[in-house]
Amino acid sequence: MARIAFIGLGNMGGPMAANLVKAGHHVCGFDLSVASVAAAEDGGVTAARTLADAVNGGEGMHGGHPGGHGGGRADCVITMLPKGEHVLSVWHALAALLSEGASEDMLLIDCSTIDVQSAREAHGLADAMGCLSLDAPVSGGTVGASAGTLTFMAGGSSAAFDKGEPILAAMGKRIVHCGEAGAGQAAKICNNMILGISMIGVAEAFALGEKLGLSHQALFDVASTSSGQCWALTTNCPVPGPVPTSPANRDYRPGFAASLMLKDLNLSQEAAGQSGAATPLGRHASELYAAFEKAGHGAEDFSAIINLLRERAG
Ligand code: NAD
Repeated sequence: MARIAFIGLGNMGGPMAANLVKAGHHVCGFDLSVASVAAAEDGGVTAARTLADAVNGGEGMHGGHPGGHGGGRADCVITMLPKGEHVLSVWHALAALLSEGASEDMLLIDCSTIDVQSAREAHGLADAMGCLSLDAPVSGGTVGASAGTLTFMAGGSSAAFDKGEPILAAMGKRIVHCGEAGAGQAAKICNNMILGISMIGVAEAFALGEKLGLSHQALFDVASTSSGQCWALTTNCPVPGPVPTSPANRDYRPGFAASLMLKDLNLSQEAAGQSGAATPLGRHASELYAAFEKAGHGAEDFSAIINLLRERAG
């Protein structure tokens, strides 16, 4: 079993770290938020007061913790943080920490959703430390994080993937090696661009159907078994009724918040700009979600974008 330092114990990281503990790994966790660290302790994670403590197995706390890494340095460091800037700041701190005696056996995995360029920069830092590294963003949300059913999209060398796969398997049910450094983040933002665009498409169809006097159920019955079928319709339907488990049935409580969709769409636009790809619908989708967030709806499920369309129709 591995000795793992887990950095970032928020909505996703907390339950992911708990699943690593359940699988028998020794997990030492650090977060800037004391409340998040305390919640992770309930899941069996050993609390660390600093990044250095987490990497050293909690040795800086209480003179060594019985549930820590058993006195040894972590074999694997996982980060689950908001944005690229947070990931790079932690990985820079790791580089300083590991400058004496960095181990080629150590694996660094970033599971956050960040821009491709920062992900590649993070891999560069790991190379300089002599560590293996993976960018391994996830889909499946907080429900998947708790249930251990996340999908991981991994980028990095085959050696890093072979080493990381059994660790990621404790937190997810599907682990895909997408290619070299940054390929995991690339897959994540491409997938979520499809999702953002298709949700707006489904919402537009329901908004048009309403104007034409078509019932929600009738449109759902046809489109869900025809060529309009997609996840945004059949699982996260933007109107209440046809899919009882969709957020539309609970006043659009997320689910997947519109602000997170906007973040991912903005990442796709950043990547499109840098790589020279044409993504006109992705750009328009990000503009619509930006307007929706600006109007104060960022905390609602992203399917609530149908209300923006209804408002625009007057
Ligand atoms: P969150 O805000 O709940 O957790 C992030 C945690 O990082 C916070 O607890 C914060 O205190 C901590 N943190 C920030 N800087 C730190 C630092 N320097 N050192 C230690 N801790 C630090 O966010 P989340 O919902 O857990 O999301 C994490 C990542 O996962 C994001 O990139 C997000 O886009 C991605 N993601 C989220 C979901 C979701 O449904 N929430 C789904 C897929 C992917």
